Amino acid sequence: MTSNYRDIAPDMAQYAFCPKCTAPLEDRADDVNACVRPTCPSCGWIYYPSNGMGALVVAESGNSIVVIYPPDAADADAALPGGIVEYGETPEQCVVRETKEETGLDITDLEEICRFLSHGPFGPMLHFGFRARVAGGVLVEGDEGPASSTPRSSLATIAADREGSRRVLDAYLHKASSCSAS
Ligand SMILES: [Zn+2]
Repeated sequence: MTSNYRDIAPDMAQYAFCPKCTAPLEDRADDVNACVRPTCPSCGWIYYPSNGMGALVVAESGNSIVVIYPPDAADADAALPGGIVEYGETPEQCVVRETKEETGLDITDLEEICRFLSHGPFGPMLHFGFRARVAGGVLVEGDEGPASSTPRSSLATIAADREGSRRVLDAYLHKASSCSAS
């Protein structure tokens, strides 16, 4: 694949100077696959960017699923628990941690239901979608807003700017309906 880092990277990652020796970077084509990467002409450092990684979960509790209401839209659109996979963490570990932080709940029996690439404010990001079961804990208001357990029959609307949550919920509902049909 031929790609130019500058065309893909978000503003926050348009690096201009070498992080090792501070020389101005140059954009140079890779000899092998023609990708254009920020390269240091002084010390030879090359930036090999990687996709960001995100993980989201549909956590089931009986006939309900857990949704979060962002603080700026407490009475309207919801999102699923999840977030950015931290350095050194697996997507599974990420959703377990994020669900605890954002809702107070413990989840178990994780099953991956989808993965997809999106292009948002953090640049290209690979998302992992899971379903899981609530195994314990007490519902609390986390840093992303109040969480609630909503019956599947009256699911909350997912916020328009929460593309990841919407796509994971779609995959979950599609899977649920295809399972019940067989
Ligand atoms: Zn350098």
